[in-house]
Amino acid sequence: MSSSVRTLITPMTTQTSERAQDWAGRFSERMSRVRASEIRELLKLLDQPDILSFAGGIPDPGLFPAQEIQKGYDAILADPVLSRQALQYSVSEGYLPLRQWIAERMTRDGMPCGPDNIMLTAGSQQALDLIGKLFLTKGDTVMVARPTYLGALQAFNGYEPAYLDLPETALSQGVDEAALMAGRAPRPLGYFVPDFANPTGVSLTLAEREALLAMADRLDMTLVEDAAYRELRFAGEATPTVLGLDITRSGGIDNARTLFLGTLSKTLSPALRIGWVCGPKAVIEKLVLLKQGADLHVSTINQMVAHRAVTEGYDQHLHRLRGAYGAKARVMLAALERTMPKGVTWSHPEGGMFVWIDLPEGIDGAALLARAIEEERVAFVPGAPFFAENQTPNAIRLSYSLPTDAQIEEGVQRLARLIGKAINA
Ligand code: PMP
Repeated sequence: MSSSVRTLITPMTTQTSERAQDWAGRFSERMSRVRASEIRELLKLLDQPDILSFAGGIPDPGLFPAQEIQKGYDAILADPVLSRQALQYSVSEGYLPLRQWIAERMTRDGMPCGPDNIMLTAGSQQALDLIGKLFLTKGDTVMVARPTYLGALQAFNGYEPAYLDLPETALSQGVDEAALMAGRAPRPLGYFVPDFANPTGVSLTLAEREALLAMADRLDMTLVEDAAYRELRFAGEATPTVLGLDITRSGGIDNARTLFLGTLSKTLSPALRIGWVCGPKAVIEKLVLLKQGADLHVSTINQMVAHRAVTEGYDQHLHRLRGAYGAKARVMLAALERTMPKGVTWSHPEGGMFVWIDLPEGIDGAALLARAIEEERVAFVPGAPFFAENQTPNAIRLSYSLPTDAQIEEGVQRLARLIGKAINA
């Protein structure tokens, strides 16, 4: 990382008084695993107007259904009965009509379940934390993809697991499971993003999902299926969810070993903080106890507003989102095709927000970011932080969700020029 970028992320020195407390010596042992991500700190500073950024993997604010949401708040607050309920405490499981809507929708998507199988969470990020709390004792094994969602690693880190990151071909070509598990705590927790993963944009095929379940059976592994981007498919055909396949073979959701995480963050608005866990009742009951201890419940009024929004024109809204993200993805893929030098390869997402770029060996994504900012005023996220164990430094993540078509064209051109220079250096 260049010195000027480094100065950007070096905290300012402050004068320490002689009476300063020794906080570091008082924090719990688990805090040794909880660290600020250098990359996230750096990305915060990239909000400069002349930088073309492919870094932020967040929804396009132009697609937020602001009017629908405003109508929801207005209607609820104007109603004397609804407003009393909406501004009051509510049950930790979540607002029943919203859980019913989720259960019906998941049932239609091949995952027959009822509202008792569902608990609302403050985004799916909270579900990751509560699942870590429920399942992980220090030293337990967490199996993840290589690479995986950085936020899941951050959530699980506080519970001090040992990660096992699965080789890329393990699900398609098989792997020596005994060797993989040697010396590790048995009965792992497996975390996967089967649809349009963050950070790669890649989905698991049906055969890979079946292989994952078969492996879970052999290892007695609890699976977490993070479906944050599932509703954002803009090409190809939907693949059954891991939970759906699990329910089919196990005979019902209460016999399943998979916990499914959904969210309205990518489709409605992340600020509402509405996500959910769907799984066997025996697990949901325990999660409800943890949710109670953490924050009692998701904002009552937000759940009621979200329920109104999803029961009125949600599918048309999704149609619009898919069209918009699909169009941007096609612009990015075409620009990459046109401009990227030989030796650079990338994923071809059918949904979600991300393209993953594999650079030739020897080109470090973090070093490239420093140069990209300085020389080309273009930004992205280096690949390395997305790996739990075996880091691949020569990869980067691009997101097409925020920039305009023209910005995507220009940004990819700048990036290709820079990568070309790096290859020839
Ligand atoms: N899972 C994945 C794969 C994500 O990309 C994100 C958002 N970055 C989340 C979970 C968390 O989203 P939320 O808490 O807003 O539902």
